[in-house]
Amino acid sequence: MDDLVALGVGCENCGRKRRLARSHIARLIGPGIHTVEQLGQRLKCRPCAERGLASKNITIVPYYRCDVAVEVKGL
Ligand SMILES: [Zn+2]
Repeated sequence: MDDLVALGVGCENCGRKRRLARSHIARLIGPGIHTVEQLGQRLKCRPCAERGLASKNITIVPYYRCDVAVEVKGL
């Protein structure tokens, strides 16, 4: 989790995608959250939740420090 720099969150219902920055992730991480999977269980799609739809049908894509290093190298 220390190497996690960002998290891509996609909703399977509405297709909405967003990317959480590390500062945002840090606020989500609390007691009992040790893995990306556990973090994903805390996330939901707000627009879907507001419409009363299933909001937990999300996919998460973790970005680690090494991924960013690869991106920078490619510039
Ligand atoms: Zn949604």
